[in-house]
Amino acid sequence: MANLFDLAGRTAVVTGANTGIGQGIAVALAGAGASIVAVGRSSMEETEALVRQAGSRFHAINADLSTIEPVKRIVSETVSRFGALDILVNNAGIIRRADSIDFTEEDWDAVIDTNLKTAFFLSQAAGRHMLEKGRGKIINIASLLSFQGGIRIPSYTASKSGLAGITRLLACEWAGKGVNVNAIAPGYFVTNNTTALREDPDRSAAILARIPAGRWGKPEDIGATAVFLAAPASDYVHGTVIPVDGGWLAR
Ligand code: NAP
Repeated sequence: MANLFDLAGRTAVVTGANTGIGQGIAVALAGAGASIVAVGRSSMEETEALVRQAGSRFHAINADLSTIEPVKRIVSETVSRFGALDILVNNAGIIRRADSIDFTEEDWDAVIDTNLKTAFFLSQAAGRHMLEKGRGKIINIASLLSFQGGIRIPSYTASKSGLAGITRLLACEWAGKGVNVNAIAPGYFVTNNTTALREDPDRSAAILARIPAGRWGKPEDIGATAVFLAAPASDYVHGTVIPVDGGWLAR
């Protein structure tokens, strides 16, 4: 059974791995034996220390994912460094909050470009390599807003609903070719993404009261689900979006 969750010899690219959910996933994948390529625009020092502590190899790639300019470089640098790209985690994402009536084109484009466009084209670039090998795992970090509407975050809801759709589409195209495409939908997690919510006493209390588990999620709550979707254990799992939400969607 343990072998089904073993990632020894595999290389995982995790975007936005410097902090929050991405860091939690990178550390969990490293703990299962994967070499980690951490992609982002901020220092990866803290993540590097945690990955090396877990006994895994580490490489950082500096890239701004607000455009698709870096996607080919990310794949080629990963393959030349570690010999393959077996697992891709599209985690980097942003959120912009404003009433829909006032929402700007800039806030629309910025969120869609990072959360949806880059995730698709990085999947395409990684997918080319994976399809050639006949093996690969792509994990998109979706959201409760892949299922629900939310309020004051129109481009975020559009991007995460779109990401769930792209997850299903790529699974339909690639499942028969050895590549698994799935997603994880985190509930409310304590990260930079939710600072504004947690600082609003009314919203914060209302959210907490609705979470059956009775607490917000921590980045380490996500890791084991990512290991499952990256490992042989999930070889027959395709196109699904797994909530890790303390029961939020069950309510
Ligand atoms: P976070 O701490 O804000 O992490 C976001 C990550 O994305 C950071 O590493 C950030 O890098 C990176 N990123 C954003 N724009 C980028 C760009 N242009 N180029 C490169 N990297 C960029 O929040 P988080 O909660 O861990 O978010 C991770 C993912 O989980 C996101 O996709 C988010 O939508 C999703 N999610 C979060 C929650 C939650 O409750 N927290 C719930 C559902 C889904 P910098 O640090 O350099 O900005």
